[in-house]
Amino acid sequence: MIKPYECTQCGSTDFEEAGAKRVRCAHCGSLFRLMTHEPSVVINKGAKVVFGRNANVEIRGDLDVQGGAHVDIQGKVTVLKGKKQQEFKLELIRTGKKSLK
Ligand SMILES: [Zn+2]
Repeated sequence: MIKPYECTQCGSTDFEEAGAKRVRCAHCGSLFRLMTHEPSVVINKGAKVVFGRNANVEIRGDLDVQGGAHVDIQGKVTVLKGKKQQEFKLELIRTGKKSLK
């Protein structure tokens, strides 16, 4: 498995998933938000999104439709995944040392 990022706090490359787009360092417990350079579209629970008949939409990157969202596509919607390997960037949410249980 490719691990293209390392912990900014301890340098470890072992991470575990901690929810959507979040990872936790397995070594020191720091929590990070996983940022990608690809834009992503997130349609949240409860949303009602209609792409009308004349829609001509290209989404470059990820399209994430949460459970409970209603998406009605009548027109043309194309999701293009980037051809380049995605680059990841970590944004520190909190360090783990003080919040370890
Ligand atoms: Zn760490």
